[in-house]
Amino acid sequence: MYKLTFFAAVMMLASTACSGGSKAQTGVASDSDSVAVPVETHLTLLVAGDLMQHGPQINAARRSNGTYDYSDCFTNVKSEVSAADVAVANFEVTLGGPPFKGYPCFSAPDEYLRAILDAGFDVLTTGNNHCLDTGKRGLERTIMMLDSLHVPHLGTYVDKAAREADYPLLVEKNGFRLVLLNFTYATNGLRVSAPNMVNYIDTTQIAADIAKAKTMNPDVIIAIPHWGIEYAMTPNSPDVKLADWLLAKGVDHVIGGHPHVLQPFEWRNKDQANGGNLVAYSLGNYISNQNKPNTGIGAMVKLQFTKCVTKEKGQETSSVHLDSCAYTLTWCSRPAVSGQRNYRVVPVATSDDLLNASDRSRRNTDAATARRIFNKYNKEIEEYEFEP
Ligand SMILES: [Zn+2]
Repeated sequence: MYKLTFFAAVMMLASTACSGGSKAQTGVASDSDSVAVPVETHLTLLVAGDLMQHGPQINAARRSNGTYDYSDCFTNVKSEVSAADVAVANFEVTLGGPPFKGYPCFSAPDEYLRAILDAGFDVLTTGNNHCLDTGKRGLERTIMMLDSLHVPHLGTYVDKAAREADYPLLVEKNGFRLVLLNFTYATNGLRVSAPNMVNYIDTTQIAADIAKAKTMNPDVIIAIPHWGIEYAMTPNSPDVKLADWLLAKGVDHVIGGHPHVLQPFEWRNKDQANGGNLVAYSLGNYISNQNKPNTGIGAMVKLQFTKCVTKEKGQETSSVHLDSCAYTLTWCSRPAVSGQRNYRVVPVATSDDLLNASDRSRRNTDAATARRIFNKYNKEIEEYEFEP
């Protein structure tokens, strides 16, 4: 069921996208003898789950000269992440500077961010329950580091003016205008210090933000909530309601995280003119030192869009179609099991030769659980494989 049908499906669907959009006026003859020819462009969006950083990860990355080296961590997923036009993940640490700390108040070395960028991630969310782990200084230093490396980010802000200028986040790529939203259920009991701002789940505020997003001439609006019950393999009813509400308000796709385990994915309304909506309740951990059942496994979702633009009589009309939506599973191989020097994220389906017997056994157990849950609850979405 999870064999590589994704790309074949993309190619088949993409050729029909210019006739499938909700607002397209394609191939319409003008009042002269010319015919407006629609122009197609394509975009692949990949979203991964939570980038955690526990104490043992810091220790594994520390080198004898006092530097930190995370380059092993993403080697086996880099080709897939960097192939996406836009790759997004949740940056669930602060860059608060030394002393570097793991749970419960994360402060990661700056090299962690550099490795994440080197893997191919383009946009990071910071609206999560750990964004205040190192207080005002950490929130601001994290933003300063992201800004200094020109990394688009969303979820936390130094002040109201910065939020108003940068949120919702507009990402322009391949002629597409993606507008991203991100908000968190809470911040572990820590209060944000004025004038800093954290996006919380507040439907009055979110409704205003969606209204603003709609004024930004978006092709696609994506909400990335940080929500859910830790270790629960299915979403709770408030989050299901919130997902429905977000879609009803005009969000196109809802892609969540935080529970440290996977929760079901639904490709809804596939037959609609825009190709439908993804609701992914939880992408799970992407990298972490957690060892509870199902916390070693994560997912990346890949959405492939076609935009069709027609120019006629000085007027431009466009439509966007979601051609393909699929997910792939990843496994976090930890040194305590693998005997390797560092943590490594590897593809579940094609990583046998990268793992020892113990790691394979753990991966197989978690993958079997994930696939059992997904077979039962997922809607209209398939798994795909990639090579490390
Ligand atoms: Zn979280």
